[in-house]
Amino acid sequence: RSKASGRNRYQFYAPEMNARGQELLSLETDLRRALDRGEFRLHYQPQLDLRDNRIAGVEALLRWKHPRDGVIAPGDFVPLLEDTGLIVPVGEWVLRNACTQYRACRESGVAPVRISVNVSARQFREDTLLRQVEQVLREECMPPHHLELEITESTAMQDVAATGDILAALDALGVRLAIDDFGTGYSSLAYLKRFPLDALKIDQAFIRDAPRDANIAAIAEASISLGHKLGLEVVAEGVETAEQLAFLRRRACDLIQGFHFSRPLPADALTPFLARHAAGGSGEAAASTADS
Ligand code: C2E
Ligand code: MG
Ligand code: MG
Ligand code: MG
Repeated sequence: RSKASGRNRYQFYAPEMNARGQELLSLETDLRRALDRGEFRLHYQPQLDLRDNRIAGVEALLRWKHPRDGVIAPGDFVPLLEDTGLIVPVGEWVLRNACTQYRACRESGVAPVRISVNVSARQFREDTLLRQVEQVLREECMPPHHLELEITESTAMQDVAATGDILAALDALGVRLAIDDFGTGYSSLAYLKRFPLDALKIDQAFIRDAPRDANIAAIAEASISLGHKLGLEVVAEGVETAEQLAFLRRRACDLIQGFHFSRPLPADALTPFLARHAAGGSGEAAASTADS
């Protein structure tokens, strides 16, 4: 078997490699080709501003349309993109596509205030990020304050000194900055006020049970007032029920995002949804036909 393929050779050196390992290896091979083959898509989830009932923003969420396995959610491949470094070119693709979509919304006269893009830990630490953001904004004629970058709390806390520098540079470009999955990353709260942030997104874990669990409710409530005291807009993630929405309204949460208002929408459904909402419709018909 001296003429074995790369994969068989790998098997020779790692005979203990199991089915899961094989699966990951073939996923990685597919992932390396996905960008060239145009298999990535962005879906967009609207955020409702509870203060004026307008759609303040949309979050771009990555999907992979795998030719054999169908649509794959980011949780199943973003970690692999990170490990292989492919997150850097894919992240640039996400940024560019989100800005192109935003321009299309503007041209239809229904653009929300902003579009949000997730930035992963590895991307955040690369020196290319700042240049990428600058270049995409320029090429897409995008005013920087319409773009929001989301970094998770755990990414931000990995190296707070470096995070402070990167965020300061991004802030100087004029983009908005949000902390994602707040409450899950063991933040040192002292750092929150040192970072030039605009928004705090409370993780869905603290929203789901807030109406029923007094301890969770206390955390959600404290997060909202902490955000407000630091001058940040507070977004609740994963709002699925009217009961959760009522809870958040009573506590003056600024924005909500979740299936209750809308699932993430494929690109072709976004502009009609925004137009219907602006015209006073609830948009719920679109929400129920879109996938997640
Ligand atoms: P995230 O940024 O916290 O995004 C919110 C996730 O919650 C999305 O999952 C969204 O579909 C889901 N969601 C929204 N509303 C609800 C709800 O009411 N109930 C429930 N149960 N879930 C809801 P998704 O799209 O699978 O993305 C998962 C994570 O993958 C994201 O979490 C983000 O960390 C990462 N991700 C997504 N797109 C990108 C991307 O373009 N780049 C990078 N680096 N990461 C991405
Ligand atoms: Mg996010
Ligand atoms: Mg700023
Ligand atoms: Mg989140």
